[in-house]
Amino acid sequence: MPGAEELALRDEQRLLYMLALTCLPLWLVDSLSVGRPAWDTLALRLGWAGLTGAMGWALRWVERPSRRRGMRMVAGMVVPNVFLGLVVYRLGGTGNPLFHWFFMMPLMTLSVSRGELWQGALSTLLPMGVAGTLMGLEGMALVPMVSRLLLLLGAGAVGMQMSVFYRRMRRAQARAEGDQRAVQEALEESNARALQAERLAQVGRLAAGVAHEVKNPLAYVQANLRFLLEEWRQPASGTNDTEYTEALQETMQGVERIHQIVKDLTALSRAEGAVEGVGRCELVPVVDASVRLASVRLKSLVKLAVEVPPEAVARAEPRRLGQVLLNLLLNAADAIEDARVQDGRVAVRAEVVGERVRVMVEDNGPGIAAEHLPRLFTTFFTTKEPGKGTGLGLALSRQYVESFGGTLRAENRPEGGARFIVELPGA
Ligand code: ADP
Repeated sequence: MPGAEELALRDEQRLLYMLALTCLPLWLVDSLSVGRPAWDTLALRLGWAGLTGAMGWALRWVERPSRRRGMRMVAGMVVPNVFLGLVVYRLGGTGNPLFHWFFMMPLMTLSVSRGELWQGALSTLLPMGVAGTLMGLEGMALVPMVSRLLLLLGAGAVGMQMSVFYRRMRRAQARAEGDQRAVQEALEESNARALQAERLAQVGRLAAGVAHEVKNPLAYVQANLRFLLEEWRQPASGTNDTEYTEALQETMQGVERIHQIVKDLTALSRAEGAVEGVGRCELVPVVDASVRLASVRLKSLVKLAVEVPPEAVARAEPRRLGQVLLNLLLNAADAIEDARVQDGRVAVRAEVVGERVRVMVEDNGPGIAAEHLPRLFTTFFTTKEPGKGTGLGLALSRQYVESFGGTLRAENRPEGGARFIVELPGA
């Protein structure tokens, strides 16, 4: 994206190109003012347009701001006044209707100034000088000459007022832009903090489950290793190869389970920089990874059903989508646990609906109170006790899903419990 400097430069160039273009068709006015094709002013106007256009083009190559300002002044103020003077001179001087154009000059040339007072003064003095020279050359009497010059001064005064007004507006605009940038930066920073907080909260919510999950395989890994060690020291006569193989296989599975848990947890707490970008995302592995992670907490609480067809492929960022699903699963577990539902059930189902892919996470918990439904996705909305809920999960989840071009909504199931529906664009 171009920076403010580049945008300002483009604006200036565009303005000069526009000035160059507008002075050409005005040749028709030249001709009408004298009632014949004014060929000599056509050459002047071509020179005027060419010079202004070339200066506009050359602005890009001028690095120093003071030089650039100078060039803009020459192209926007000096060149028009000089060329208008020459055109009017060729067309008969002060008697030509185009002479009155000088009274508009201060207002017009101010459009290329940055609203500095000296620029305002210059934009008045220049046309006064050129118009005065033309009148002097014709030997105009003093009184009509002074009256015309005063008229020009009046136009210049109005121009200068506008220039001051414009300068104030520019300053206010620059201030407002600065403020907006600061707010944007603060927002981005707080967003990043919220993300980190939510990720850590998820790791925290899983911690108890992880301890429980790791304890189990660890116990049989330990028991099997003890058995193998004893067998190695004093082989018991009754133990056969199958028993050894089984013990080793079971040990291996236990170690793999622990390894998987550690791997998933590390992936979850990994820095944000690892995000891959939105693209083709197969749902089966993403749902599997989330379910695997969530199951360290869900397994002891609920029966989990997963139905994801292999053709469910969406446009999403896998890690973020995984985080959304994990959050929905953990919320379902929380709801079931808090309501002490005996026969807890959670289901994750995905289906392809036309061009979109729908993923639903359902539970048979207490459902969502009607007055909470409209506030569910608001940042910091939580009904959980302090320390347990951050109120960020659903807000961030919706933000993620929307960044994939999808939607996330919640409803209560008629048979009881909550249903969260993630709808994603198909890949
Ligand atoms: P947190 O889980 O930290 O409270 P969330 O944004 O994830 O933040 O959830 C906001 C609130 O939405 C929860 O406090 C809870 O009241 C409600 N909620 C989320 N999921 C469920 C669900 N499956 N059943 C009932 N209520 C839910």
